[in-house]
Amino acid sequence: MSTPPAPTSIFRAGLLEGQVALVTGGGTGIGLGISTLLADLGAHVVIASRKPPHLEAAEAAIRARGGAVSTVALDVRQPEAVQAVVNGIADRLGRLDVLVNNAAGNFYAPSATLSPNAWKSVLEIDLYGTFYCSQAAYPVMARQGGGRIINTSMTLHYRGWPLMAHATAAKAGVDALTRTLAVEWAPQRIRVNAIAPGPIPTEGVRKAFALPPDSGVPDIFAATEARMAEYARTGNPLGRWGTPEDIANMVAFLASPAGDWITGAIFVVDGGDWLAKREG
Ligand code: NAP
Repeated sequence: MSTPPAPTSIFRAGLLEGQVALVTGGGTGIGLGISTLLADLGAHVVIASRKPPHLEAAEAAIRARGGAVSTVALDVRQPEAVQAVVNGIADRLGRLDVLVNNAAGNFYAPSATLSPNAWKSVLEIDLYGTFYCSQAAYPVMARQGGGRIINTSMTLHYRGWPLMAHATAAKAGVDALTRTLAVEWAPQRIRVNAIAPGPIPTEGVRKAFALPPDSGVPDIFAATEARMAEYARTGNPLGRWGTPEDIANMVAFLASPAGDWITGAIFVVDGGDWLAKREG
């Protein structure tokens, strides 16, 4: 068997040794970046999402780096299934230290014709799923004397963002949940924070963000590679797109003892993107 490549990170090796992390949607895009870094730092990572190909590919990639990883099929919209997965982790691995609520669904759609099912589906994955997973993790974390919950938000709801009523409403709810649970569960030493990523051209987001024609919304993901490069250079104050690793680094910081006095905070990681004036 060949030796796995040595994982490189700015964080010290073994930082999360002995810890167990659950990452929803951790098999693709930003979630895969998070799962990979947490495993590189010594955590046993459990990846939960719906599609076996996502789970299998992520598991193989993390194993190949020498990481401890397992996977479980889960739809976060189903509270009983969420409960069973978290109980299974506690039984099998003995604890749950870090929960990363990363799973989400999204697509551009005009609000006037958004179907009740489409609205419900995004709210259920992004907001309800975050709540179901947090609620299931609570007794395990409380029993072991603490834990860290890290939610995934966005910045689009900081101002009006056409065609995105469902996702912006859901993520505004995630922000509210982050602050409320942080205060409510602080006595149990459960820290609850969120990260609001800026634009990161993952495969998932590029597929989901195919804009209707003449939408009037900046076509930042569905554009040609040349236009995307130009947007990143001129539209983002720090001059580039984000990467899953940018978000994973913030997750690792919050999961580590460096975050011990941080709860209820929402960290924007976007190169200054939402603050800058955006050209269409
Ligand atoms: P992505 O690759 O499409 O990730 C979404 C993940 O969620 C997938 O792994 C998917 O796996 C999982 N998922 C979807 N529905 C699920 C369900 N019902 N139950 C369980 N898992 C489910 O997109 P991404 O760009 O990495 O986004 C990750 C997170 O960052 C999301 O919360 C997103 O809102 C946030 N974010 C992204 C950006 C960006 O520009 N990329 C910007 C701001 C915020 P399965 O298909 O296997 O279920």
